[in-house]
Amino acid sequence: MRVSWDGGRLTFRLDPEDEITGRAADGHPVKLAINTCTVHDVPDEAHPDLFAVAAWTVVAPWTRRRITFDRAVSADLAAALHDGWGIEAGPVGAEPRPAGRRLAISYSGGADSVAAATIYPEAPFVHFKRVSHDRVPNRWPHYRSDVLADLAGKTGRELSVVPSDLEFTLAEPRPGYPEHHAVAAGALLLADRLDLGGLAFGYELGSRWLGGGRYLKRYTPDNPMWAPHGAWGRLFASAGVHIVLPVGGVSEAVTMRLALESDLKDQVRWCLTGATGPCRTCAKCLYKELIQAAVERRPLDTPITADHPRAAKWLRPPPYGGQEMVEYGLARVPGIERTLFGGVMHHFDATEESTTWLDHCYPPAIEEIAAPWRGRAAAFMTSEVGLMTREEALRVETWGTAGGPAPPSRKNAVK
Ligand SMILES: [Zn+2]
Repeated sequence: MRVSWDGGRLTFRLDPEDEITGRAADGHPVKLAINTCTVHDVPDEAHPDLFAVAAWTVVAPWTRRRITFDRAVSADLAAALHDGWGIEAGPVGAEPRPAGRRLAISYSGGADSVAAATIYPEAPFVHFKRVSHDRVPNRWPHYRSDVLADLAGKTGRELSVVPSDLEFTLAEPRPGYPEHHAVAAGALLLADRLDLGGLAFGYELGSRWLGGGRYLKRYTPDNPMWAPHGAWGRLFASAGVHIVLPVGGVSEAVTMRLALESDLKDQVRWCLTGATGPCRTCAKCLYKELIQAAVERRPLDTPITADHPRAAKWLRPPPYGGQEMVEYGLARVPGIERTLFGGVMHHFDATEESTTWLDHCYPPAIEEIAAPWRGRAAAFMTSEVGLMTREEALRVETWGTAGGPAPPSRKNAVK
């Protein structure tokens, strides 16, 4: 792979051994659409390792053996690429970038990133805004990135909006980040200007420790994407930008509660399609409504009924993405058996007792936060959430294994 930057415009050319269908770090196959993209509103000058990591967030899935940058990178960065991916990177010749002093929030506006932002009230936001690519048709015009950027602007926080078309480098499965880390491309290129030493993401317990999302649903202490000692964590650190997961130890029930209690609650928006408010009918709205209803201990409020196409997923047996939150919702939403989730209940013995671990913070998630920002997270989690007991932490550490803890008593089961 050969990459070059012209300002914020990235062009990459595949070497003979590279392939247009590759795999992201989560194992998901991704197909290349086009070899150019632009990150707007970033400085022309930044440390070469920042340009290198930003490029790698886009080209990693399709690179097989080597990557050649248009400017010399540090030996530390080349070593991180070699250790993490077996990739030969060069040319080498720059001094490493020292870590900056500040932490920024990679801010989407969803409940998880709002919760992360609440922990660090002084932290600036960097918001990735999807814009169209001049050479790829936009088949997802219902994605309202303009609405999300406007909401980010209403938070009152120091904000950098980074418009980019990099998601259109992906032909399949759909426009999106080639690697999850591509959301950080703009923050990386701004890291010198903002004096960043860390970048906080809203990835929560499910994504960090339970193998949520697109990959395996099992305990993942060595998560290659988000563990500080994983390939991506070491790569970011080699460029002086630590990956920080302020809410990595808590479930989406906790991030939902924190977001709804936050000063930013009026700007929270997880729906990507609604204009004046959440659409209420997309898959994300439905899933988050289950969590919100559980947190607020009220009946489910959704227009989707069991015969709606959106409900089809819930007529199939598990596993589901975010399954721990499904169990949490089943155990807590009054009258859930009379909703489209009624059929799902047969697959679980979820009780309040069996899901209370999801109300607390998994302590190793705090320990892995880089030192400058750890104390604040520890104090917040201790006072606002509460730490998991050893027994609760075992629920995390046996997640997805047949030999997990004995099933809890069914005496409080929701019937
Ligand atoms: Zn929606």
